Amino acid sequence: MHELSVAQEILGIVDQYLPNPVPNSVKFVKINVGKLANILTDSLTFCYEALTEGTALAGSKLQITELPVKILCVRCNKESEIDPLIFACPVCGNNQIKIISGTELRVDEIELDDEIEPVSENQIRDKE
Ligand SMILES: [Zn+2]
Repeated sequence: MHELSVAQEILGIVDQYLPNPVPNSVKFVKINVGKLANILTDSLTFCYEALTEGTALAGSKLQITELPVKILCVRCNKESEIDPLIFACPVCGNNQIKIISGTELRVDEIELDDEIEPVSENQIRDKE
């Protein structure tokens, strides 16, 4: 299952940012997921909970923020967010567009009981 490997990658990143041994005070792991990242968020949450069960991260929650899809029009050169996902320029109607964001998947922040650990160098993937 695709979401299982994504959950494993998320935990790998979380491990890198937490002290060793991992404290059991983690409340939230916040991730950003583009709407085109092809992730089933329910399934990812399920995998995260299954993988953290019985570990120091048990009880922590995966908080998923969906990021909009942005396109760049090849004809009029305007950037637009598209929602719903109609792949044409809302300014001029042209359908020759480039997707400039919306496929990313990143760990954003790890929230512990008493502090927030910002995560950088966190890109899991950012496919074309
Ligand atoms: Zn346009």
